[in-house]
Amino acid sequence: MQSANDIRKTFLEYFGKNGHEIVDSSPLVPRNDPTLMFTNAGMVQFKNVFTGLEHRDYSRATTSQKCVRAGGKHNDLENVGFTARHHTFFEMLGNFSFGDYFKDMAIELAWNLITKEFGLPKDKLLVTVYHEDDEAFDLWKKIAGLPDEKIIRIPTSDNFWAMGDTGPCGPCSEIFYDHGDHIWGGPPGSAEEDGDRFIEIWNLVFMQYEQTLEDRLELPKPSIDTGMGLERIAAVLQGTHDNYNVDLLRKLIEASADKTSTDPDGDFNTSHRVIADHLRSCSFLLADGVLPSNEGRGYVLRRIMRRAMRHAHIIGAKDPLMHKLVPTLTGLMGQAFPELLRAQALITETLELEEARFKKLLDRGLSLLDAETATLCEGDELAGDVAFKLYDTYGFPVDLTQDALKSKGINVDMDGFDAAMSRQREEARKNWAGSGEAADESVWFDVRDKVGATDFLGYETEEAEGQI
Ligand code: ATP
Ligand code: MG
Ligand code: MG
Ligand code: MG
Repeated sequence: MQSANDIRKTFLEYFGKNGHEIVDSSPLVPRNDPTLMFTNAGMVQFKNVFTGLEHRDYSRATTSQKCVRAGGKHNDLENVGFTARHHTFFEMLGNFSFGDYFKDMAIELAWNLITKEFGLPKDKLLVTVYHEDDEAFDLWKKIAGLPDEKIIRIPTSDNFWAMGDTGPCGPCSEIFYDHGDHIWGGPPGSAEEDGDRFIEIWNLVFMQYEQTLEDRLELPKPSIDTGMGLERIAAVLQGTHDNYNVDLLRKLIEASADKTSTDPDGDFNTSHRVIADHLRSCSFLLADGVLPSNEGRGYVLRRIMRRAMRHAHIIGAKDPLMHKLVPTLTGLMGQAFPELLRAQALITETLELEEARFKKLLDRGLSLLDAETATLCEGDELAGDVAFKLYDTYGFPVDLTQDALKSKGINVDMDGFDAAMSRQREEARKNWAGSGEAADESVWFDVRDKVGATDFLGYETEEAEGQI
């Protein structure tokens, strides 16, 4: 069996052989881009190269980019534990052409890699193209010899990429793998496309136009940006439809089961999956300098950690669990990402401290939640005041409460939650003004009201960025 580490290497070497510079992954906190929460695609580090603002001494590059999709425009946090193909942290393998080769060579390189180097059977593959992109349609026919019905025209923005309202944009073409009819799901464009049978493995973006405020112009030197999920291609090559069976994830699931003396595939399987996933995103975020806090990126990290900790609680872990899995993670990924090894002590200590601190609150908060939901049925709502109390007194990010109630089909009254939050602010403002020390300090509350609650800064922030 090819390990995911081997597959990453094969990918990078293949593009290296084909004239691409092998470039390191950039950090998860994007440099020079405060509008973007976390790096969520391979193109992020090359954004200015595509627009021509920045020049490199190569015109073709390849990377395995660390990505986190747990906030902002791309948020897969709610998918983890429920789909076979989504993680909060994953690696995006990519090849890039900066005004060098274009559509024909991009398709040829991709097709040769998956069918020759990786040896995937052609009859398991199908592709999508943007409905107006006849050129791509014809190229797939010519290069791959795919029959018409396996080249699906998609009219939606899923197959049209844009960097923002203006700037480079263009059609994309995605490669799907059919895992077989024993798994629920339909081909792209069908009503059942959200299932896990037909899995999107690779997105090829053809940056063909420049969108200005008035027009869409043809770029004189069009570019290529592609992204393939390492865990998804590894699943295919390791003979499973489920990313969580891939060695990189499976070994973490087994470690989680081992440390809690439970069955990795039994009743706690979902919890083990969530823990494995969240351990990766938390560890990589810590290694890239994000620390848990109550705002911005740090709050997203804290939310992910606390969600994982609730799952450790479900499994029945008496002591902090996450930090015990760190050696397994560094063993699996430390060679490819040495920053993990450098930060190992910090990761371990932070995870242990956060979990030890949160544990008491978590136990008490969950008891309160049980009591409050004892009489609720599927379709009912948890009162906003209770969700707020859990947030304010027990440190439950509201998405943790939602996650905890999901399996029971109970929702949180979010309007009530927001109202309770505003009431508390109002109280704080009154108390502050009443202190008589410096009436002018109330200006801070005005500022806070204007810019919004810092607790959720970024999490809800609209991103200008358009990633693949
Ligand atoms: P999906 O439709 O399955 O959510 P996507 O269209 O959002 O995927 P892209 O933005 O096109 O994904 O990213 C390029 C590639 O990165 C995808 O084809 C897929 O292989 C991989 N990928 C995207 N999101 C995830 C994720 N959350 N976990 C693992 N791999 C992912
Ligand atoms: Mg997606
Ligand atoms: Mg998609
Ligand atoms: Mg896609």
